[in-house]
Amino acid sequence: MGFHTNVFFPGVYHIEDALGVCMTLLCGSREALLVDAGFGLEDLAAYAAAVTDKPVRLVLTHGHYDHILGAGYFPEAALFPEDLPLAHEHEFEFWRRRVLEAAAERGIPADERAVLEAPAPVWTELREGTLDLGGLSVRVIRCPGHTRGSAVFYIPERELLLTGDDWNPCTWLFFAEALPVWDYRRNMEKLLELPFRHVLCPHRNELYERAMLEDFILGLTEEKLPAAKPVDTGAWLGIRTMEAAPAPGQILVFDAAKYDGSEEA
Ligand SMILES: [Zn+2]
Repeated sequence: MGFHTNVFFPGVYHIEDALGVCMTLLCGSREALLVDAGFGLEDLAAYAAAVTDKPVRLVLTHGHYDHILGAGYFPEAALFPEDLPLAHEHEFEFWRRRVLEAAAERGIPADERAVLEAPAPVWTELREGTLDLGGLSVRVIRCPGHTRGSAVFYIPERELLLTGDDWNPCTWLFFAEALPVWDYRRNMEKLLELPFRHVLCPHRNELYERAMLEDFILGLTEEKLPAAKPVDTGAWLGIRTMEAAPAPGQILVFDAAKYDGSEEA
């Protein structure tokens, strides 16, 4: 299979699919929790079952197609209800064809029928609170930002935060479903109250230290954001995107229409 896995801590598997998006499998002594499902090119449920013999429950950080299309290999998938309309939209053939095009461009073999016709799972409602997997617990946290229904997950036993697309070293905050920049910063700041020391995100198969995320969030300031430069990422959507550098080597791409310059406005 085209999955590439890093085991960063006992019971914590960061699984990258063939197109480069990552999921995280958290294995307790009683059950396992899979955070995100990737592009759906290959049978993720079979892969997870080869990693753990415990029952695997699927939760999704948000409704974008690169995180949900693999959910079709599972009977159920939970996400915050705010992102359910987005997940329905991203199940459509348009997005599945994008996956096939990306695979073809990179010479990755794909079963076209399986990708186009994979059924959607039964969508269930993700709830805030703590899940006990047996020796490993997971706190489910609502953190609107990248999308309105974005979820982050905190694993106290590993001092680990899973940010979903609310944070990657290059964070996208420009789709219609994204929050304005200052609302995003306020929600992200609340995460810094948690005593995590390590961070995993979906678009890198790397473990980051807390300071990386902290520098990013605290770098979203009234001094640094005005230095943002136009970048054409959202041109196909008719969005005027700007690129800011809140911290060295890190980028926030946002919608100029959702940034008014003053944090208090
Ligand atoms: Zn996303």
